[in-house]
Amino acid sequence: MISLKQQFRLIMLGIVTIAMVMAGLLFLGEVLNVTDLVVKSYARLYNNEIVGEIDTYINREIGLAQKLSNTFAIQGFLKNSQSAEAEEAALVSVNEFNQIFYNNNTFMVPMATQDFYYLNGQVSEMIAEGHLEADMDQDAWYFDLLASDDDYRLKIDKDRFLGTLGLWINMKVYDQGQLIGVVGTQLSMEALIDNILIAYEQTGVKTLVVNESGGIELGSFDENRGDEEPGESQAPQHQQDQEDEHPTELITDYLPDFDLTAVQTYFETEDKGDSCVFDINYKGFEVSAIAPILDSGWYVVSFYDTHNFLSSNDILNYVLLILGIMAALALVINLVIEKMLISPFSKIMASTVLKEGQREAEIYGLHRNDEFGELARSIDKMSRQLVESIPVGLFIINQQQEFQYGNPYFLKLFKCPSSEVFRQILEENPAKIFGSRGVYQAFLDRMIKKSSYLTVEMELGDLQGGRFWAEVQIAKTWKNHFDYEFEGILINITDKKKEENRLIEEASRDALTGLYNRAYFNRVVEKAIEHADRYRSDLSLVIFDLDHFKVINDTFGHQTGDDVLIQTAKIAGDLLRQSDTLVRWGGEEFAVLMPDTSLEAAVAVAERIRLALKTYVHPAAGQVTASFGVSIRCRHEELLSFFTRVDQALYEAKESGRDQVCVRDCEFLDD
Ligand code: GH3
Ligand code: MG
Ligand code: MG
Repeated sequence: MISLKQQFRLIMLGIVTIAMVMAGLLFLGEVLNVTDLVVKSYARLYNNEIVGEIDTYINREIGLAQKLSNTFAIQGFLKNSQSAEAEEAALVSVNEFNQIFYNNNTFMVPMATQDFYYLNGQVSEMIAEGHLEADMDQDAWYFDLLASDDDYRLKIDKDRFLGTLGLWINMKVYDQGQLIGVVGTQLSMEALIDNILIAYEQTGVKTLVVNESGGIELGSFDENRGDEEPGESQAPQHQQDQEDEHPTELITDYLPDFDLTAVQTYFETEDKGDSCVFDINYKGFEVSAIAPILDSGWYVVSFYDTHNFLSSNDILNYVLLILGIMAALALVINLVIEKMLISPFSKIMASTVLKEGQREAEIYGLHRNDEFGELARSIDKMSRQLVESIPVGLFIINQQQEFQYGNPYFLKLFKCPSSEVFRQILEENPAKIFGSRGVYQAFLDRMIKKSSYLTVEMELGDLQGGRFWAEVQIAKTWKNHFDYEFEGILINITDKKKEENRLIEEASRDALTGLYNRAYFNRVVEKAIEHADRYRSDLSLVIFDLDHFKVINDTFGHQTGDDVLIQTAKIAGDLLRQSDTLVRWGGEEFAVLMPDTSLEAAVAVAERIRLALKTYVHPAAGQVTASFGVSIRCRHEELLSFFTRVDQALYEAKESGRDQVCVRDCEFLDD
């Protein structure tokens, strides 16, 4: 069985645990939310970084191309490409710029000739690769730019003369407001992809460069993600020859749900400097970030696998952290429960035990203002009333066997004014209460020997000389591991005892004659034998039987017979000493047990009874005689043997003519 206190503690802990588990789950949810936020921020950050690097790269090249277009030597050559002097000067500038362009290459087209000069690496002469034709699709970039208001355009295509796919910066050249041609540079695809690769390698991010129509221009994206051989097709690929051999790959081929229109709308309305982030679900990628590349009409789209940001280790750490916090909380809450709830209850309980032991000690919490205070005051009031009004004596004896306290009923029983007086009497004159000092000492000894509980019935005396019967129950109560006291209950059982004695007496008596019966005789004779053995004293027994009693019954009636029995008992009884026990042995047979009585003395008593009976004349029955058997108990003789010998003596008396006393001494024993 668990105690109420433990149940309470368990329930409280249960509630707290449930609350904490719920809080933990909420917290875990919050952690996951935060995780999502962190992942998205990471995605945005990385994407911005990639776009930033690409922007920087392109801006630098645009800046250089602009500078090139403002160079006198270039302008001079574009105005007069036939001049060897102008060519000489332009070559110097081109060589200078080729050293600082990423790709060591420059192109220029004088408007007058529309010849396409491509100058790669250190060059010593202007080489025209070919002539631009207005009606050729592949040359449209040049004519479109001339017709537009733009100063420059970025364009990815495969050049007709060089046959390579490239990102071109096409920059108009003016001379005093007059358009004189186009210059520019082909950006290195490798350099662009390298920028993407950095992010790709560091974080496992996959990146695509997507044009306004969703066509994929560049990509580090690997379509076979998940089922490829390691090291294979890891490098980013150009979407080469796409126009010729394959239809342009679209971002929506990868992500059917990807809404590029929405993305474009987003960037038209929002701050273009920041990437926007989407949730996706594609080949293990969970988040996508997208941002425009400045002035290009292209977007950088990157895909993120959140596991790269948040390892399972982190999750485990979170969970352990939560468990740790929960455990710490449980500990704290348990302590709080202990301190706020359990401890006051325990203290009140402990102090109620103490209170019975020491009246002056008060119950814990009596002066508290809270519920515990109320509880303490109620218990105090109840216990006082109980102790003072209960019709049972309550008393306490300390470890040193000194009387400590008796409640009002206890003191009333002993007619004693106070516990102090009672203690004094016990110390000075315990016989007054216990009858003798020895009885008192024996009582204390029994009390100490009992490990737990003692119940005794004893006759005690009050201070005014009255005596009463009490049932005393004493418990040894441990106050701690070392100290104990005896807490007792005393119940007045005088009435009960009287009734009990009456019943015992009734069971010991013969209803007709009022003499003790054979059952009583059997008890008395055992004590008498004990006494005789201990003090080596005599024990004599007389058994007598009325003569021809059957005739009396038959002649005068049963009633008369009964009366004869009654008279016989009286006559015999009057002749006996206090210490003799006369019993009706059965029928018309009587016995007299005589302790400390010699055989001679017993015979004398028997003779006296015989004579008295013979002399008495019953009003109805007349003279009635009896026959007697007498003997003395031999040393250590068994009861049966002793009785048998007396019986034999009686038989002899009957046989010898009745109305006489026959004796059997110890020497008959051997017969
Ligand atoms: P003896 O001299 O040999 O003892 O002869 P007896 O008639 O006295 O002996 P017996 O044992 O033959 O008869 C005893 C009678 O005592 C028989 C019985 O009815 C009678 N008796 C026994 N108890 C009572 C009693 O309580 N009241 C009456 N009226 N008669 C009793
Ligand atoms: Mg008889
Ligand atoms: Mg008889």
